[in-house]
Amino acid sequence: MKSILIIFFASILFISCKNRSEDQIKSDNFELVELGDGIYGCVHKFGGKAICNAGIVDNGKETLIFDSFLSPAVAEELLIVVQKMNLSPVKYVVNSHFHNDHIRGNQVFSKDVKIISTTGTRELIEEEEPLQIAYEKENAPARLFYYDSLYNSFVGDKQSREYKQILMWRPYYETLSNSHIEVKTQLPNVFVDSTLYLNGPNRKIQLISKGEGHTPSDLVMYLPDDRILFTGDLIFNKCHPYVAHGDISKWKAWLYFMNSLEVSTILPGHGQIGSKELIDQMMDYLVNLQSSAKDLVKNKVSIENPENFLIPDKYKDYWFDRFYEYNLRFAYESLNTEKMK
Ligand SMILES: [Zn+2]
Repeated sequence: MKSILIIFFASILFISCKNRSEDQIKSDNFELVELGDGIYGCVHKFGGKAICNAGIVDNGKETLIFDSFLSPAVAEELLIVVQKMNLSPVKYVVNSHFHNDHIRGNQVFSKDVKIISTTGTRELIEEEEPLQIAYEKENAPARLFYYDSLYNSFVGDKQSREYKQILMWRPYYETLSNSHIEVKTQLPNVFVDSTLYLNGPNRKIQLISKGEGHTPSDLVMYLPDDRILFTGDLIFNKCHPYVAHGDISKWKAWLYFMNSLEVSTILPGHGQIGSKELIDQMMDYLVNLQSSAKDLVKNKVSIENPENFLIPDKYKDYWFDRFYEYNLRFAYESLNTEKMK
């Protein structure tokens, strides 16, 4: 009996210590979720400035950061997590793809940290970032002004979808408007175009690329012993994905591949952590998009009329609704391109 009590109190002490250490890391930008010993998901919060999700994995010798958020300021918080959780030194930062919200924190890591991506992602960052930043400098302040005025004049229910939409977009444009002064594009310097193993004493880490999907070049991180998959934007959970930079058919091939892996937990690029059903959910969205595009062709519907781009009921509660119209247009145009091949 005595030994049972000791174990019981020791367990309580352990649990409270663990909670306490996580309590030290309160971020307005992301929620820190422990996925295993030395494995964390950093899940973007409503109203926060992380914008995408990121991962932190300690293999027992080295720590890896999977995606570095939208700005150097918010990426600094990833370093605080590593320090407060007493993780191994950061040796790797991975960019799952070239989009701004996954790469703009690269510069906060010290010079000896390797930045890993596919070769294609490095080329895209080099080519697209200057154009993207110039576009944002031109357009983001007006968008911020718009969302600021909605935010300041809002009088309705603060639990409503309308208010949450404001909370979602305002920090994005605020960050784009204010962070350019400090952003210095840090290009990846180690490349993975099939599989790269970063195994340590505590676990195996695999970085895997199958090429095009959400963008012309994507990669995922797989922890086979822990059965955890970090997908970048190849999976969005309950959010409309942005499909127009990639290839829908090749994206589906990526999902078939992910389905072949032993996976219990998935950290998507956007939205909450889930299990393997997130792969089916993403597949369903892409299949639905393609069939809606085929219906537009079959029914000879004009794509000039916005009424033909109404969001299907089953996606009504998804975030990023503005992407649906772009996505369906892209799927429609992809049908023509595929016919010409
Ligand atoms: Zn993306």
